[in-house]
Amino acid sequence: MAERITGHTELIGLMAYPIRHSSSPAMHNEAFAYLGLDYAYLAFEVDNDTLEDAVKGLRALKMVGSNVSMPNKTVVHKYLDKLSPAAELCGAVNTIVNENGVLTGHITDGIGYMKSLKDNNIDVIGKKMTIVGSGGAATAIEVQAALDGVAEMSIFNIKDKFWSNAEETVRKISEKTNCKVALYDLADLDKLKEEIADSYLFANATGMGMKPLEGQTYIPDKSFFRPELIVTDVVYSPRETAMLKMAKEVGCKTMNGMGMMLFQGAAAFEMWTGKEMPIEHMKKILDIKYD
Ligand code: NAD
Repeated sequence: MAERITGHTELIGLMAYPIRHSSSPAMHNEAFAYLGLDYAYLAFEVDNDTLEDAVKGLRALKMVGSNVSMPNKTVVHKYLDKLSPAAELCGAVNTIVNENGVLTGHITDGIGYMKSLKDNNIDVIGKKMTIVGSGGAATAIEVQAALDGVAEMSIFNIKDKFWSNAEETVRKISEKTNCKVALYDLADLDKLKEEIADSYLFANATGMGMKPLEGQTYIPDKSFFRPELIVTDVVYSPRETAMLKMAKEVGCKTMNGMGMMLFQGAAAFEMWTGKEMPIEHMKKILDIKYD
């Protein structure tokens, strides 16, 4: 690493707290090295108190850009010049691009999810999907899916603090896209079964199935799934959640969150460098295999 850093090397950051566990620095630096690109990607412990100064620093140091993660995703827009349509609709930013001092905020989580579907030969455009969740990951997927042309979307969530966010997402999607969207309480399992029954794809976009909810699913039994249904999960640790295991037993094509993780990074990588991330190489490095 040290050998390839010179006076010309350009810096890209990641601003979040906590952040030391992130796999993004390893992923991006591997891709830079593989393609021989003169960039370095470093993680910085930045929280809401230091975010404004950090963004000023990014501008002053003429950094190429940065990723942004929690707790800064929904706050950083205040310090930027422009937002992409998806970032505007989501109310969240995970990527900053610095073009000659003009800072634009993007959200690539939804792009990553949609690209991972495409990469796995899953075409949900013009079709119906049912999705559970209304937090950061879910909102990004719902907005991008609607922008990309998913025809119909049924969103479920528990009645927790995220419910108002779900209502807001439904309002924005209805206003700004042609997607027919509806919101239901996840406690209504009969409705969940009914909506999944005529969906092409079902997506979990909550932390269900991951620690501390590892081994759990809100899907009561296998009768909710049929072999033709595509079942996806944003969770990638573990790589096979209880829900994906159940779906596989029914014979569904399944996909975990690894592809979304790779492609959200790839979308940011392309915005910063103008080059495509070496996807097949990165899939080998990250041990991503589709079912
Ligand atoms: P968040 O805190 O913003 O949202 C949490 C969501 O989970 C909300 O919709 C909430 O209502 C729901 N929820 C919480 N407890 C629940 C329960 N017991 N039953 C049903 N729903 C419940 O979180 P987030 O940032 O959106 O992350 C959600 C998951 O997505 C995490 O597992 C995270 O690791 C994963 N994620 C994956 C990627 C990727 O690239 N694959 C990217 C971002 C997030």
